[in-house]
Amino acid sequence: MRKEALGAAAVVAAVLGGASLIGGSSTEDAIVPEAEATSLPVEQVAARVEEIRGLKFKERPKVKVVAAKDLEKELKGVEREAARELKGIAKERAESLAIASELVSTMTGLIDLERDKEVLKRDGEVSVAGLYVPERGRIYIVEEVVQQNAEEGEAVLAHEMAHALEDQTFGGFERDPKPFADSSFARHALHEGSATLTEVLYRIKFQGVPGPVDRTLGVVRKQTTDTKAPPGMNVFSQFPYADGGKFAADLYREGGWDRVNRAHQKPPKTTAAVLHPGAWPEDRHERPRFTVADTLDAQWDRLGRADVGEVDTLAMLRAGLPDREARAAAHGWEAGRFEAYVRKGIESSCEPPCRPDTAAVIVWRMADDAQAKALNAALRTSLGKAAGAKPKDGGVLAFDGGAAAQVHRGRVAVLAFAPSAAEATKLAEAAPRD
Ligand SMILES: [Zn+2]
Repeated sequence: MRKEALGAAAVVAAVLGGASLIGGSSTEDAIVPEAEATSLPVEQVAARVEEIRGLKFKERPKVKVVAAKDLEKELKGVEREAARELKGIAKERAESLAIASELVSTMTGLIDLERDKEVLKRDGEVSVAGLYVPERGRIYIVEEVVQQNAEEGEAVLAHEMAHALEDQTFGGFERDPKPFADSSFARHALHEGSATLTEVLYRIKFQGVPGPVDRTLGVVRKQTTDTKAPPGMNVFSQFPYADGGKFAADLYREGGWDRVNRAHQKPPKTTAAVLHPGAWPEDRHERPRFTVADTLDAQWDRLGRADVGEVDTLAMLRAGLPDREARAAAHGWEAGRFEAYVRKGIESSCEPPCRPDTAAVIVWRMADDAQAKALNAALRTSLGKAAGAKPKDGGVLAFDGGAAAQVHRGRVAVLAFAPSAAEATKLAEAAPRD
């Protein structure tokens, strides 16, 4: 129940949700010693987690208690290894997608590279209390956490044990081949939510923490909030633990661990299904297929395109709207997708959004006409507050150095950014009609 392992990608790759690379691979040189040395009651915690979860370890994971700085090194090694595994085109694609998502995050005011400089830098540093690395069958717990509060260290261990137990039973822990897809972030939230639920039940059953589960999940939401971070960034840091935890708790209430296990076998495909558990297991994500490449001349290069899930939409709206309003406007999401472009010869020193030399189109398909209309209205307000947009006639918004245009056709809502109002309108018109 802490920023367990929020990779830098989680926020810089903000619009896409950013599934963390952590846990996806191993490094050859372990920094910590081989022998298990821990001041925690490992056997007891393992047995209790098996009891709560109703599952048995195939092999009890090794547990290491390590200093925060050593875990930081370990984690960087794991991330480096994961980055090395990405080669050639896949690597280039991942890099330009990260830039593309950062671009859209700054265009919509979700992040401001200047204003949020300190927060973004801080998030690049590791803030981890525990970590499960599947390839090594090993759990790391931060020594300082245990020293400060032994019970807290034990609860963190219970959380990591739950990851190990579920990974041994169902597989697929943090091994998603498509880190930028909405489905990856949904699966990440299932894993974190399920482990968080186990941890919360552990605290209630063995540590005298008062129930019910929902009350403690409220604490999780607070603990995964950085009060100095902009609200949209907090949507991403809360989602896996607080919203994922609520998803798991709702299924658990409905049908016990059997139903949660079913979700591990058939994970939610969208973040919308995590936010509205009733949507699972019938959730689908039929991406709007489109490209505005033909509308742009040879001066433009596509940086990337990817999903815009409900949680991404919520984060964008939270940039300028209160939580309730943002959630109401994002609700009704059925599909979303963006494309981002840069003009050839753009100054490499240009700090996003670089509006005079960038363009992007976001297309949403909502449940009905009224929700598409409401989404556009909410985006307009949010863009005004968070990105300094000035409303003009004909669905146009003016920014410093650029413009945006909105179109609403039936269930479809479109938001296009471009250097000028005329170009933005042309891009918005070129997007799909249904
Ligand atoms: Zn976790």
